[in-house]
Amino acid sequence: MQTPVTIIGAGLGGLTLARVLYLHGIPATVYEAEPSPMSRSQGGLLDIHDYNGQLAVEAAGLMDEFRDLILEGRQQMRILDPDGTVLLDHPDDGTGGRPELLRGELRQMLLDSLPDGVVQWGRKVSGVRTVADGHEVSFADGTSIVAKLLVGADGAWSRVRPLLSDAVPEYMGLAFVETYLYDADTRHPATAKIVGGGGMGSPGPGRRIMVHRERDALHTYAMLNKPAEWFDDLARLDTSAALARVAAEFEDWAPEIRELISGGDTAPILRKHYRLPGVLRWERTPGGDADRRRGAPAGSERGRREPGHARRLRPRRTAGRAPGRRRDRAGPARGTDVRPRRGGRRRIRGDGQADHRQPRQGHREGRGRRVPPDASQEAGARGAVNVREGNPQGL
Ligand SMILES: Cc1cc2nc3c(=O)[nH]c(=O)nc-3n(C[C@H](O)[C@H](O)[C@H](O)COP(=O)(O)OP(=O)(O)OC[C@H]3O[C@@H](n4cnc5c(N)ncnc54)[C@H](O)[C@@H]3O)c2cc1C
Repeated sequence: MQTPVTIIGAGLGGLTLARVLYLHGIPATVYEAEPSPMSRSQGGLLDIHDYNGQLAVEAAGLMDEFRDLILEGRQQMRILDPDGTVLLDHPDDGTGGRPELLRGELRQMLLDSLPDGVVQWGRKVSGVRTVADGHEVSFADGTSIVAKLLVGADGAWSRVRPLLSDAVPEYMGLAFVETYLYDADTRHPATAKIVGGGGMGSPGPGRRIMVHRERDALHTYAMLNKPAEWFDDLARLDTSAALARVAAEFEDWAPEIRELISGGDTAPILRKHYRLPGVLRWERTPGGDADRRRGAPAGSERGRREPGHARRLRPRRTAGRAPGRRRDRAGPARGTDVRPRRGGRRRIRGDGQADHRQPRQGHREGRGRRVPPDASQEAGARGAVNVREGNPQGL
């Protein structure tokens, strides 16, 4: 039997809604296209602000779990001139309002908070239409359901949104090329030093390097304003040639900054950025109303804090937690297989610690580089919307 609420998409939005409904005794089912919680890397760090994203976490009753996932010190922000001169160095003294967490760990936190069976994996929606008693949702596997209350939380290329709007995402004229340097403090000390303990940005005309220090990797986003075809050509190159071509776009940058790209340990990931045009709104209709999405993604807008929500979050320090017991590594991963137990529940390790590790995300390729399985994905930018479909752009 159908639950009262049907949610399409087990991203942060769909899962947060399912969790809040669950807390209020309203059953929901979430249909997710991906075959399992671990089928792909979930991306890098997200800053979750105290005036919006954290309010959702609070409504979900998960603040303790959330605090536990905060990466200490990562709110430090450093801006460098291309020649490496430090223009701004904003320290993280633990009082900032936008702590950084790994998206994969945040998603796993939400999954862990839901009963088994709420998320139905491998249920890709192929189409939705209005019928007499609700909305018929068709799946790629040939099955269908009728939903009384349907929520589209299926990202930029939503199959639900066309019920309300014919807007389609458009290419923004820029893309990220993502690279990872592992064990950078040891293997690339000059680069690790110049990045510092948190985020680093180094802008130039039509291009910019941004870096996040994740658990054990420097995750770089080389942003380039280029036509889509430039990236299509890039996608045809092998890993070394692609890294070299992107690094060449930053030839005026100091060698230790360029190393973030040219020294990449993984095949680069290309993410073209798309966004919906303008502010998207639609009239209420008898069948319902959902998914108001602005150009800027929820949870990352820079804005004024609501009174009463100015609480700063510090990472919750767990007494005696040994460094070796840290959770997870973020990017295309190494190490042991960490598949979750059935239903994506939190895995308890032998030492009794909950294990939020990310999925095994990659395998080695020639030259010792790792190949992330989601290299064929595109995504929207900060200020845009995620894009999970379209022309695969694996580099
Ligand atoms: C580069 C980048 C950086 C960002 N940084 C931040 C940040 O620092 N802080 C912050 O708060 N926000 C940030 N955002 C925004 C944030 O990522 C989004 O607001 C958030 O991911 C939206 O969540 P969602 O659940 O609506 O969509 P998504 O995260 O896109 O999830 C959609 C889900 O639907 C599934 N799906 C898609 N199609 C189908 C289908 N046909 N059938 C079934 N399931 C389907 C997908 O597999 C996915 O699991 C960033 C976004 C980007 C792109």
